[in-house]
Amino acid sequence: MTEFETRAIHTAQEPDQLTGSVIPPLYLTSTHQQNSVGDLRGGYEYNRAGNPTRDALQEALANLEGGRFAFSFASGLAAEDTIIRAILKPGDHVVLANDLYGGTYRLFNRIHREWGIEIDVADLNNEDSLRATIRPGQTKLVWVETPSNPMLTIFDINLASRIARELGAVTVVDNTFATPYLQRPLELGAEIVVHSTTKYLGGHSDILGGAVILNDGDLAEKIGFLQFAVGAVSSAFDSWLTHRSLKTLAVRMDRHVANAQAVAEFLVQHPGVAEVYYPGLPTHPQHELAKRQMRGFGGMVSLRFAGNANGESAGTHEAKRFAEALKIFTLAESLGGVESLVNHPAEMTHASAAGTPIEVTGDIVRLSVGIENIADLIADLKQALSR
Ligand SMILES: *Cc1c(COP(=O)(O)O)cnc(C)c1O
Repeated sequence: MTEFETRAIHTAQEPDQLTGSVIPPLYLTSTHQQNSVGDLRGGYEYNRAGNPTRDALQEALANLEGGRFAFSFASGLAAEDTIIRAILKPGDHVVLANDLYGGTYRLFNRIHREWGIEIDVADLNNEDSLRATIRPGQTKLVWVETPSNPMLTIFDINLASRIARELGAVTVVDNTFATPYLQRPLELGAEIVVHSTTKYLGGHSDILGGAVILNDGDLAEKIGFLQFAVGAVSSAFDSWLTHRSLKTLAVRMDRHVANAQAVAEFLVQHPGVAEVYYPGLPTHPQHELAKRQMRGFGGMVSLRFAGNANGESAGTHEAKRFAEALKIFTLAESLGGVESLVNHPAEMTHASAAGTPIEVTGDIVRLSVGIENIADLIADLKQALSR
């Protein structure tokens, strides 16, 4: 079992020993019977510490990301919070990429800053700027999200992690937009991968989850201890659904990528659209880097509207009217499901970033391109643009 698609289907999915059930059972239990005091069956005692369904998912996630250890959490932000607590102490400093998920910035800026963590934002593709922002001895973490949310910037994982390591910092890559099918940050030099499994890994807009994958044993021990001692674990049912979804990840991503490319190419030639952000377009500033670093360009496309005369600031009115006029693309936060979604980041997913260095302007619309029929999706975009 060497290839991704095969491992995604079979890792930790052995048929049940007792009954031959092809699909392993979902262990909906909070606790496990002990043979005698402290004599545990299969190492299981209480489900904050371990649950067989969650363990199976963790084994599959580690396998697909090419890491030794994986930990599954109740949300992407719970996974991020655990990494931050495992690595940072009051007085430490982190460098964040200058475009990333608003909730990640909020977690650092509104929660961990109050506990003495200092944060800076940098263009991680600019070696001089990254070197100048890292404070040797004090910077413990460099946080990269690529492709970034919502501007679809591609950051060079190899470059950022090489410089970070040289200056004594650990690199975390948020791999939510790419998934391990399209990009494997650990192989590119990063120390830690984090996911919102709510998105492509879950893939059906019906679970909330997060994951941390890494190779370093000492760090894994700290993260495992925090997972157990704090308890932001994924439920057995969410773990089961996520594991089930991994089996179709490769085929879903192939279709997301094909549909997103077609959507980007349609939008780029439409006179009503000022700019299209998709790493698969040859005009994207990091198109060559994306080709090197990823196996496909992902399913997310953002676009910008130019303004014309009206009350709201240039392009904001057009952006919101477009988002509201779409019919197959559902106006909703989140992304990565089989169904297409549209989001107005400035007032939805990135509202908390207003007034910060990662603020998103009101003229931007973000599309999560689903796996519906592409002609239907293009027709929907066309009718909304013609309004
Ligand atoms: C949604 C998202 C998160 C946060 O994950 P939750 O599961 O919502 O807590 C983190 N990073 C990225 C890139 C996301 O899109």
